[in-house]
Order: sequence, then structure tokens, then C-alpha cells
Amino acid sequence: MPFYLSSFVLWSAMTCCAIRPSLPSPAADASCGAPVECANSAPAALTYSPGQEVPDHVWQQQGAAVFFSVSELPDSIFRIMQGKSYKANCGIPRTDLRYVRCLHRTAEGKAVVGELVVNKRIAQTVADIFLQLFENGYPIERMRLVDYWDAVDERAMRANNTSAFNFRYISHTRKISKHGLGLAIDINPLYNPYYKKLPGGKSVCEPSTATRYLDRSRRFPYKIIPGDLCHRLFTQHGFQWGGSWKNSKDYQHFEWAGN
Ligand SMILES: [Zn+2]
Repeated sequence: MPFYLSSFVLWSAMTCCAIRPSLPSPAADASCGAPVECANSAPAALTYSPGQEVPDHVWQQQGAAVFFSVSELPDSIFRIMQGKSYKANCGIPRTDLRYVRCLHRTAEGKAVVGELVVNKRIAQTVADIFLQLFENGYPIERMRLVDYWDAVDERAMRANNTSAFNFRYISHTRKISKHGLGLAIDINPLYNPYYKKLPGGKSVCEPSTATRYLDRSRRFPYKIIPGDLCHRLFTQHGFQWGGSWKNSKDYQHFEWAGN
């Protein structure tokens, strides 16, 4: 499918208010306050910080695409990641990661600035997918760096935060998780939990507050359904969906299956 991000903005050099991690408490309402004012006349896309709502007339005036960008990790962002998602000696060079800014729609229809760190191999594809999702009104509640929850996945999932890079090993192995390479994305994780039945009959649900969403026959917002736009876009672009795994179900999880 051809994507139409020919005018995609690459903010390789961030200006004064391009990426201002107003670091909220994660619990703070993402649809807050007034845009950050910039001393010079920055593009509208840069006057809104991650987590802020953008009024419809603002993004409609310039087109949604100008709010989507891919850049190398700005120093301000890399600092926030230190010792959290980006651990000492984690082995993945900073230069392999990219910072993606975008817009997402909440279930209430608000347009909100989102942010994500992913591997450079998939950064542009991911930005293209999120533009498609936004323009088609696909709901994503929150998209902030996982570092605002100290990179503790359980807490970020409970907050229904969509995120990607977070260095970690697959449980009980020395194999780096696809999230540890920035090659996996978790979408609306509270409503799309991870489930596994353990030997002996016990089962795990992550986040632990999401057991009610394991019944996939129920109707609720933010549910990923096979064949819906989110599922189609990711799988058409080389991602595998964890919801189709056999030995466990990871309904929130899309991971890059390419090289
Ligand atoms: Zn995942």
C-alpha cells in the first residue's frame, strides 16, 4: 500500500521547543493545557508537547502529517531514558534508535501528541502506520515514553500506555526481547493484555489489572481485533501479532519479523 508521507518532516535538528519533555506524572491527564509558546514562530507541530491535546482546527489547517516526525534521539530524550529503558551496557547503540513524534486519537476523539522510541530500521514505517491510524480515527489512549513509569512495564501497561523500546531480556533467558531492540510495539496494553498458562495450571495476565479484558468476545474500547485497521497495517508491513501466538497470547504486541 502506498503511503503518502512524501512531505514527511525529519527534524534532525530540534529547535527550542521541538521536543520538550514536560514530564508529567504519568497519571496526569494527557489532554492538558495550553501549547508551549516558542519565542520564534515555530511550526504548529512543535508548539505542542507530547501528551498535549491539539485542537482539530490546528492540525486540520496544516495537515496531520506535519505533526509526524522521525529524528535521532535528542539529548533531552536520551537523558530521560538513562538507567530506565536505556540501561548501562544494554548493547544497542543510541544511533540505532529513533524518536518518533506523532498524533493519536483517543476513544473520545481528541487528537493528542504522542512519542515513541523505536529501532531506526522500522521508524519510518511505524510513523507511516500511526499516521494512517490517526487519519482513520483508530483510538490510542496514551503514547508516552515508558521511562515516565521508570520503564516498569506493568505500571505503564496499567496506564494503557502505548510504547516500544525498553531494554530487557525475555523472561528466564539471556535473549534480548524485541522491545530491547526497539523492534516491537505494544498498543493499548491495558485492553490488550498478555496471557500465558504456566505448567502446573497457574496463569499470568499482564498487566494484572486486565483480566476482564482476556475475554475477547466482550465489547470494549481499544480492543485490537484481527482484521481491524491496526492489525492489518502492522501485519501488512512485516510485523507479527502476539494475539495469534499459540503458547501464549500477547494481544497488545506487534513485533518486526524482518531482518
Ligand atoms: Zn510487547
